[in-house]
Amino acid sequence: MNITEIYYSIQGESSYVGLPSIFVRLAGCNLNCSYCDTSYARQNGYKLELLELYARLEKYSCKLVVITGGEPLLQTEVLPFCEGLIKNGYRVLLETNGSLDISRLPREVIKVMDLKCPDSGECERISWENLKHLNPDDELKFVICSRRDYEWARGIMKQYNLKHNILMGAAYGCLEPNTLVEWILKDSLPVRFQLQIHKYIWPPDTKGV
Ligand code: SF4
Repeated sequence: MNITEIYYSIQGESSYVGLPSIFVRLAGCNLNCSYCDTSYARQNGYKLELLELYARLEKYSCKLVVITGGEPLLQTEVLPFCEGLIKNGYRVLLETNGSLDISRLPREVIKVMDLKCPDSGECERISWENLKHLNPDDELKFVICSRRDYEWARGIMKQYNLKHNILMGAAYGCLEPNTLVEWILKDSLPVRFQLQIHKYIWPPDTKGV
């Protein structure tokens, strides 16, 4: 597989926030979001065979793996990689930008899927078909840059009658978190507000955390 970095830290987002996790950041992305904070993962990377990758992961005393990117689903080997992890007793979260087919991932993999809002510049790339393939324990994520994004997300939740675990956070440096929280409370929106806590624990541009 084509890897950007492997590291051990706490999960900064999703319902699994705060849990110690091994991160496998895969290289390459098919989008170019306006607020991208991992542009270093959009190209390059180094090769690792699956067996080497499993051996690396075994060095950590941790059974929660977060597969992230870049966009992990660009690499076809991510499917056997996930299958092997599940077989070896790992709990697996996979973070995807929502533009590529998620249907072939093992049922046990918890998908954390973005629905890219207009200000990301990549809203047109959403694969709406993916909504049919989400399981009850999967999660949807809106990253909000502006009031326009918020209203769009609110409209999408209504239009698609979204009942999943929905995460909503303010794009770091674009929108003040308290502004978004006030909008959510005013509308009684059934979402989980989240902060990217790693950006508050460490300097926000720190890699490998
Ligand atoms: S999908 Fe993720 S990695 Fe790709 S450009 Fe957008 S924020 Fe960056």
